Amino acid sequence: MNTEPGSKDALELCASWLRSCKKEHSCPQPSNVWMPARVLAISRDNGSPRLSLRPTAGCSIEPYAALSYCWGGSQQVQTTTENISQHELAIDLSRLPKTLQDAVAVADSCGIKYLWVDALCITQDDAVDKAMEIANMGHVYANATVVISASRAKTAAEGFLGPRAPMGTDTPQLLFRLPFHTKGRSLGDMILIPHVPTPKEPIDERAWTLQERLLANRCLEFGPVQTRWSCSYYASRTLGTLPPVDGNSPHQVYRRLWHRIVEMQSRRLVGSEKDRLGSLAGIALRFGGLLNEDYVCGIWKHSLSSDLLWSAERGTVVAVKPIMYIAPSWSWAAINAGINMHPVPAEDLDHGFRIGGHDVVLEDRQSPFGALRSGSLQVYGCLQSVFWNPHEEKTIPSSEFAPAAVSRIRVYLDGHGIESFPGDGGLMRLSLLLVEVQTRYTPEKIVRGLALSQDGDGRYSRLGLFEHYSDPYGSDHYEDIFRWFHSEKPQKLNII
Ligand SMILES: [Zn+2]
Repeated sequence: MNTEPGSKDALELCASWLRSCKKEHSCPQPSNVWMPARVLAISRDNGSPRLSLRPTAGCSIEPYAALSYCWGGSQQVQTTTENISQHELAIDLSRLPKTLQDAVAVADSCGIKYLWVDALCITQDDAVDKAMEIANMGHVYANATVVISASRAKTAAEGFLGPRAPMGTDTPQLLFRLPFHTKGRSLGDMILIPHVPTPKEPIDERAWTLQERLLANRCLEFGPVQTRWSCSYYASRTLGTLPPVDGNSPHQVYRRLWHRIVEMQSRRLVGSEKDRLGSLAGIALRFGGLLNEDYVCGIWKHSLSSDLLWSAERGTVVAVKPIMYIAPSWSWAAINAGINMHPVPAEDLDHGFRIGGHDVVLEDRQSPFGALRSGSLQVYGCLQSVFWNPHEEKTIPSSEFAPAAVSRIRVYLDGHGIESFPGDGGLMRLSLLLVEVQTRYTPEKIVRGLALSQDGDGRYSRLGLFEHYSDPYGSDHYEDIFRWFHSEKPQKLNII
């Protein structure tokens, strides 16, 4: 363990990792086609680094590093319309938060003359500049020569090059010392400590940093225990980098990867709820190139039917509906909760169900992967209605013709419908839309679909998911449920 990540030797080691990656690996070379609109230029003034903001329009493309970090509150030094011309002359390095100072030191010791940091390279009080730069965020990290990840720092003020506490400092009673001959033959100590899993790093809690990390071709991570290097060559050791756009991998591989990314991203915090989709936009853009598919409110069009069957994590925390409009109820982005995507093979989808079309209004037409104004989905499918007792979590048939098996249907609300629960003992009327019938892979047959509510205009909203498991040896066969759904002709529905 290196307890001095900011020492000359440690920084020289970082620089040597970068050199050998550029020289010896087949990792993508630094971009020579794209650069952010503004970068921080690091120059030397009597031996010490000097900083200024540099617009890049009309200049040649130069290698730059990008910083990935937690703000952890507002920052005292930001670029604004008022100070931008001053920042173009010089930025006082000593006034910057420690994390930014450390990033300058790392870029400088790696021989990189330009650094991108959001607080200084985006004009923070200019809404147009901000929207444009946020839309470009994916490019910023994908084209950086190296991404410097301040993963051990909870806030910008904390810094990441300060000394690390030696491992085991907080558990001295568990340390075990053994005498050890060092290289110079003098007697030293070898210290045995119990294996402790690496704690979750502050940076892993933030939604934006997932794409910053995944899009990076090379990443220098300053963690609480160690400094790590990752690039395509060493991807298997780390979270990994996204696959290159080669079009050779089957769609299923990308789909599973997309599911994993959505699941990870949904468990992270976004600064503003509105950024839930925007903070994934850079990754979505990359996938758009891989899949050659339309993107519909966080879901790829070719897997729209099966990806409607996502479920909210059923933990101790009840998912809450965002205060502002984020996404239509059928999109995983509609709720603030950890999401589990449902890996359903397409052949299991019920033939009575199909997507008719979709109608999506973007917040900004220039950002096809960003924030939404509305999104409606037209579907055809078999619909049945039931009563549901939310207090006892019981399904009750709403007609005498319904089979007894209906009472075994389980409904899982996404959480955001809870505020509209009827009072004690009251029943909710739910419309169940059949989407999937799974008859293989498991001994029991599973009927699965969406639990919807209908508004006064006849439009439907997703409230959750329903499932019916048949006992393979009992009399409660899935055919009863299947026939019940198919006793009505498939209907055309509009889900918002
Ligand atoms: Zn490499």
